This record gives sequence, C-alpha cells and structure tokens, in this order.
Amino acid sequence: NQKRLNRLRHHGTVSQDGVGVTLAANIGTAQDLPSILKNGAEAVGLMRTEFLYMDAAELPSEDDQFDVYKQVLTALAPRPVVIRTLDIGGDKPLPYLKHKPETNPFMGDRAIRQSLTHQNVFRSQLRALLRASAFGNLRIMFPMIATLDEFRQAKAIYDDERSALTVAQVPMGHVKIGMMVEVPAAALLADRFAQEVDFMSIGTNDLIGYTMAADRTNQDVAYLYQPYHPAILRLVNRVITAGHSAGIPVAMCGEMAGDPIAVPLLLGMGLDEFSMGAGSILKTRRLISQLNAHDLQALVETALNSASTSQEVITMVQAAVPDLL
Ligand code: PEP
Ligand code: MG
Repeated sequence: NQKRLNRLRHHGTVSQDGVGVTLAANIGTAQDLPSILKNGAEAVGLMRTEFLYMDAAELPSEDDQFDVYKQVLTALAPRPVVIRTLDIGGDKPLPYLKHKPETNPFMGDRAIRQSLTHQNVFRSQLRALLRASAFGNLRIMFPMIATLDEFRQAKAIYDDERSALTVAQVPMGHVKIGMMVEVPAAALLADRFAQEVDFMSIGTNDLIGYTMAADRTNQDVAYLYQPYHPAILRLVNRVITAGHSAGIPVAMCGEMAGDPIAVPLLLGMGLDEFSMGAGSILKTRRLISQLNAHDLQALVETALNSASTSQEVITMVQAAVPDLL
C-alpha cells in the first residue's frame, strides 16, 4: 500500500475530472525538508517560524534567520514557500521577550499584535526574509490578522524595509504578501481583505477555536472543536468565494486541510491549495485523484444550506463518496 502511495510522489494533484490543486507541506524548521520532499510536497504552504525563536536562548540574529530561510527557499526553488512571520504569545511565549502575564493569552498580545508593538523583532525578521527572497519563490504571510488596519501597518513596515534594502542594492526576489484567515472577523470581511492581499490562507486550527469559543487543549470542551460544523464550513466557503471574486488564490494550512472528511468539501468549494503535515500528503493526493470536483459542488450546497450539525455533514460526505473514506 505504501509502495502504491509512493508512486504518487512525483505526480501533480489532479481530481478525476481534471481540476488541479496544490498539495503543500507545513514545516517548522529546515530539518523537515527531507521528509516533505520525500512525501511529494509541491510547495511549502506554511513555515511556522516560532521554532527558530523558541529553540534559541536569545533572540536569533538577522543572519541566523537569513541562513535558515535561504536554506528552505533554495531547497524548494522554484516552488513557492510561504513563510509566516512570528506567531508567538498565546501558548507560545518567548523566555527572552518580556511579556506581561495575561488572563487570556489566546485573546491577548500575540502574533501580528506583538510584531506591530515589538517592531525591532518584526523588522529584523522581514529583513532576513527579504534578503533570502533572492534564492527562491518567497511568500510572506502575517498571522492572526483581525483588522485591515493591522494588515496595512504590517505591509507598510515591509515596504519600508524593502525600500531600505533596495537603496542598499541588496538583491531580492519578487515577494507576494498574504495573510492567515484565522480570526472570524477576518473571515467575515474576507472580501475587503481580498482587495489588498496577494493571497489568503485559512488557519482552521485557530478559526475553529475562536468561532466555537472552545480551547482545543481543554478536554472539557473538546466536543465543541468541530471542523465540519456548518458554521465553520460557511466561513471557509465565504473566504474561498471572496478570494476568487477578487482573483486571488485561497489556501488552507490548518489540520482540516488534510482531513479526509473535509477534503471532498474543500475540493468542491474550490480551495486552491491544501497545506498539511508531510505524513498526510500522499494519502490526500490519492483521495483527490479519485474525487470529481464538479460533482462535489452539490454536496457543498447541501452541507452549507441544509445541514444543521456536524454529524449531518459527516453523514452527507460519507453518502457522497462512500467507498473512498
Ligand atoms: C492555524 O491556526 O490553523 C494554523 C495553521 O496556525 P497554528 O496552528 O500555528 O496556530
Ligand atoms: Mg493559528
């Protein structure tokens, strides 16, 4: 079985009716590269840069970061690599960055919020990324964007650093700038965001948590953590539709992107890129190659408009693609 899966390593990802999507990998460090390449990743859809910072005893220097980004971009070139700027705070504090204790860290000073207040850390990361952009196909993504203002501020800081490096004649590649859609407010306003960003990537791990007001790490409310809940599906569909109306691609980099029940729904919705852990890529490629994207639109319609519960959605998916799950 693994042998048959391995044959799909060097294939693209195309549904039975010819719809092509990108199957990308989520990585944390450059050490993940051999495994994602072995598993047939077509791109990196999310590099979480937190590990670079959390594994260090002090703030990593711009040069240290540059080395890592360059290594990842070179290994994947010319394939795209989405690198997310620092997403600390919440459950990921940094010992060497002073941080006030918070009663509710997940709703506190984390991710882009910290980057905008600790601009020196953010700027040094952006410079490292810009310098590395000469070595591959870089896309920069901002985490936890809730308002357009945050995106505009982050983009302005990026433009500022880029101009300074241009003046200094530092070689740089073309870089696309996008955002994570993981705060419900951003999902609801995706049509406005889509006018200003180059791409969007749906972070379902946080989007589900914030939409259902349930902490996934809390066993007592784990039952609320429901990826197939119609409310979540409506948000996801809204983001995909908004992106496509504006002519930009929409990806997903939360766990849901590699979930076999969710994949038929996401393919039917027209998701462009699925980004996941290395271990799920080949199985997802095989699943997609057996699905008919066009036929799945009817399933999506019913799930969005007639389902009231997660269980109903699961039953609908199982009925639509019975022998694949
Ligand atoms: C997400 O929230 O879905 C996501 C991909 O980011 P993280 O899991 O790092 O919060
Ligand atoms: Mg997240």
